[in-house]
Amino acid sequence: MVSLNDKLLKQARQYLVGGVNSPVRSFNYIGLEPILIEKGKGSKIYDYDGKEYIDYVLSWGPLILGHSHPKVINELKRAMALGLSFGMTNKHEIDLAKEIKKAISFIDKIRFVNSGTEAVMTAVRLSRAYTKRDKILKFENAYHGHTDYLLAKAGSGLATLNIPSSLGVPKDFTNHTIVAPFGNRDAFENIFRKYGNRIGAVLVEPVGGNFGVVLPDINFLKFLRKFTKKYNSLLIFDEIITGFRFGYGSAAQQFGIEPDLICLGKIIGGGLPIGAVGGKDNVMNLLAPKDNVYQAGTFSGNPVVMQAGITTLKILEKEKDRYRKLFELTEFLSKNIQNAAKLASVALRINYFGSMFSIKFTNKKYFGMAYKYLLENGVFIAPSEFEANFISFSHTKRDIEKTIKLFRESLNKIGDL
Ligand code: PLP
Repeated sequence: MVSLNDKLLKQARQYLVGGVNSPVRSFNYIGLEPILIEKGKGSKIYDYDGKEYIDYVLSWGPLILGHSHPKVINELKRAMALGLSFGMTNKHEIDLAKEIKKAISFIDKIRFVNSGTEAVMTAVRLSRAYTKRDKILKFENAYHGHTDYLLAKAGSGLATLNIPSSLGVPKDFTNHTIVAPFGNRDAFENIFRKYGNRIGAVLVEPVGGNFGVVLPDINFLKFLRKFTKKYNSLLIFDEIITGFRFGYGSAAQQFGIEPDLICLGKIIGGGLPIGAVGGKDNVMNLLAPKDNVYQAGTFSGNPVVMQAGITTLKILEKEKDRYRKLFELTEFLSKNIQNAAKLASVALRINYFGSMFSIKFTNKKYFGMAYKYLLENGVFIAPSEFEANFISFSHTKRDIEKTIKLFRESLNKIGDL
């Protein structure tokens, strides 16, 4: 019998570039055929042949509650019954903004957009307008979306595909982008001594999620806050992955730092496409129509998307004690994989923080072998060592134990080679 998955994969290749709509989905990094997913429930996803996988990708981060949370789905049905899109202000937008503001107190105003890429693009535009300076500083291997001028030494998909930057980005477009090594104060100070009065913003992920999980260096983040203030540059926290990931609110607040602007996405849309920029009135009010920083979007503030976000955040707030369980499960999984690797004499490193983890083998070939074994046996982790994996409120100890068992078996096989 021809597998429906294989049939659809063939068609995907015929009609979609590379069979996908975002490069990492192609599994190019590990040289395997991608899986196609029909549905998801809780911690599991299912391909078109009905094969079940424990899902640690979770749509690349948004689904902190797991797939198809019944309350989110029900509230969405109610919102959809009222109409899908109006392109006009609606109560759902107000409610989601209220919910976010309640959780992240330094925000005065919010602008909703449709993706993380757009959120960062808007934050950078705002900071350039506010400071009247053109240059921005980002860190090596940090990914902030696929905006032209930010595709300089970006991690994640680009690291996966070994593209140093992207074709189609004119050199002139990255002229104002300065890339600094993360955590290196001397390098940072040198750059600021040279260009400080021309740098409008420093853009940083408080916990790196696009070059594997990069553990936070809170002292360095505090140093960035102090230094940007001294030079009157804005500090932008890209919390598209980290927002509402480690607790009900921002990583910024948890680390005791107040950035000038925060970019959110993923979790705040509950699984539907979203991005948001938030900050104090003096910066945010530069946006049109209040002022002249232009930004617009047909689908921005879409009521259905907003409702997915509101319901998700409300559940997170109500069940915020459960974050701790996520962290415990992540630690349990990570430590057990690391131990199994040690016992099997396979060199790998697991980075984990909160409910995020990433696995980097010293030998890439071994990652591919372990990956294949996991996938065949029903565990789906990110098909690249540079992507973060996530654990949701729906993952159970049983899911984690099964994953550890499969990891152990695969590592023992590799160790026996
Ligand atoms: N910023 C960070 C830190 C991200 O991880 C991502 C996407 O993974 C983005 C920005 C871009 O978000 P989107 O893919 O929604 O455009």
